[in-house]
Amino acid sequence: MTSAVHLSKKGLTVLLIEKHEYPKHKVCGEYISNEVLPYLKALGFNPFDYGAKNIVDFTLSTPKSRSVSTKLPSGGFGISRYCIDWELSKKAKEYGAQILHETVTDIQFENDQFEVFSNQGRQYTSELVIGSFGKRSNLDVKMNRAFIQKPSPFLAVKAHYIGDFPDEAVGLHNFEGGYCGISKVENNHINVCYIAEFKAFKQYKNIEEFQQNVLRQNKYLKEVFDTYELAFEKPLSISQVSFSAKQPVENHILMCGDSAGMIHPLAGNGMNMAIRAAQMVAQQILKFKSGQIKSRTELENQYTKMWNKEFSSRLKSGHIIARLFSLGLFSELIMLLLKTFPIVLPHIITKTHGKPMKAEL
Ligand SMILES: Cc1cc2nc3c(=O)[nH]c(=O)nc-3n(C[C@H](O)[C@H](O)[C@H](O)COP(=O)(O)OP(=O)(O)OC[C@H]3O[C@@H](n4cnc5c(N)ncnc54)[C@H](O)[C@@H]3O)c2cc1C
Repeated sequence: MTSAVHLSKKGLTVLLIEKHEYPKHKVCGEYISNEVLPYLKALGFNPFDYGAKNIVDFTLSTPKSRSVSTKLPSGGFGISRYCIDWELSKKAKEYGAQILHETVTDIQFENDQFEVFSNQGRQYTSELVIGSFGKRSNLDVKMNRAFIQKPSPFLAVKAHYIGDFPDEAVGLHNFEGGYCGISKVENNHINVCYIAEFKAFKQYKNIEEFQQNVLRQNKYLKEVFDTYELAFEKPLSISQVSFSAKQPVENHILMCGDSAGMIHPLAGNGMNMAIRAAQMVAQQILKFKSGQIKSRTELENQYTKMWNKEFSSRLKSGHIIARLFSLGLFSELIMLLLKTFPIVLPHIITKTHGKPMKAEL
């Protein structure tokens, strides 16, 4: 979506194909770190115009409810996917992008161009394709991407609640087999979103029973489920979430966001990475179209190099931190360390975040 806004603002012909209608709720922690702000503003989108919450305080807790709090090194904002995805789609249309609500069923590359097929029986021809179809799509299966063969051992649940939670705070609360993020969004709803190992979840009958028996063991989460009122009819859930490595370019498609690689949500940095990749891919495409990048091969190589340089170490740090916090007793020991040396926590957070993005189109 962000690259569609960027490229259409710069005058390119853009067709965005999205299978769902906007606005729509999505399983996501809905916390975006501030590094993206200069770029989003350059695209003509300021999340605070839509009521986004300015988030500066962070609390981390272990399954046994030991906690530590700190100021976030660069801070962030809380805005629902319902709002931001919809508002950005309006921006893209305003700049001339066409948005079609269809499901892409296949993408073929032949004679130096793409043929894109949809479930409506339509076929679109394009010189370039950005693949931004998220963490797991029918297209990954169709392309037989390597990560599809690997285990996808996580599921995630999200709902909005009404209750008492500070506007400027984000909580990350661990429980046996997972962790849960809590922060507010533009309409004062509290977003509660957790990810859990499927093997921990499957011992229980349903979401309610899992929350009752597992999440409530953490006192911060107990408070949520005991005192907050559910603002959705029922929680949303997704399964088969995988953090296996992917390639930033496959079958000549320039992959962007989760299609190129997914960071553990505990880093609160997935949307940041998707938005930064959108800026990088859009800038490289503009160079290709203006002749500064001379060939498709050069475009693909440049983008792959940039993507790896920008994100490889962030992904690794995210994986290591998530792994450490999944190690029961060990996570309690880490917490003791963090409580003794609280200055360490902002450094750990910085490891999973990038530099502030430039306001460059
Ligand atoms: C539990 C959880 C919590 C998270 N919390 C946070 C957080 O707090 N902060 C943060 O920064 N990140 C968070 N993330 C990560 C963040 O949600 C993703 O990194 C981000 O959404 C990636 O954006 P994207 O555009 O790549 O993919 P998506 O936002 O998933 O968009 C992909 C789109 O492609 C569409 N699509 C898929 N297949 C097709 C098809 N065949 N045809 C047409 N359309 C198709 C989908 O409908 C979807 O709208 C979280 C992730 C999870 C799982």
